[in-house]
Amino acid sequence: MLESVPAPLLYIVFALYGLATGSLAGALSYRLPRRQPVIFDRSRCTSCGATLGARDLIPVLSWLLAKGRCRHCKAPVSSRYLWIELAVTALFLAALALAPNLWAAVCLAFLGAGLVVLIVADLEARILPDPIQAGLALLALGWQASTQAEWQDMILGGGLGLGVGLLLRLSYLALKKRHGLGMGDVKFLGVAGLWLGLAALPSFLLLAGLLGVAFGLVWRLATGNKVFPFGPALAAALFLTLAVLPVIR
Ligand SMILES: [Zn+2]
Repeated sequence: MLESVPAPLLYIVFALYGLATGSLAGALSYRLPRRQPVIFDRSRCTSCGATLGARDLIPVLSWLLAKGRCRHCKAPVSSRYLWIELAVTALFLAALALAPNLWAAVCLAFLGAGLVVLIVADLEARILPDPIQAGLALLALGWQASTQAEWQDMILGGGLGLGVGLLLRLSYLALKKRHGLGMGDVKFLGVAGLWLGLAALPSFLLLAGLLGVAFGLVWRLATGNKVFPFGPALAAALFLTLAVLPVIR
């Protein structure tokens, strides 16, 4: 049924869902690390506390029309929401363009949104929230069904990812006498293994390592700090390995 929808219309639908999901991602990435309620709680201005209505919450447009300020108190509203909405929308469109079929595109799109939440939470609060990781682990089942991957391969990939993560964490601790890889990173390697299966896991680990080194250098230049969050490199490597590598191969 969905397969009969014309392509240009699909791109419009994916863009609209991307904007709405991006808006949710902006809220989740703020609230989860701060342990604030994520549902049944209206969005408020963080400066004056005014409850935000529908016209404040239109993705991208509200922020642009109000010139990045609260309509009530005129305090600047962080552009993080704008960038998160645009990033998630771009990933929704990339998923539609790159996935092998429509249902795989839906899974890949929501994976992209979850990864953006993880990246923002890791950059801002050094945490990869468990609820998002659990959601992505469940979504791997949808990906497995839509790509007809073998479920045994999925389980083995998840187990090996987790094992590699624990091994890296313990080796780092033994060599450097301090934690290098957080438990959030270890869990993420397990989630990534579920999505990738055994065969794609090595290219993912290689790519994550390369991106991690590059990101670590940029981080050190920008902040002067040698210790950098590894989540962004892991998340980017997962999306690239699933969506881009099969296409360019
Ligand atoms: Zn305000």
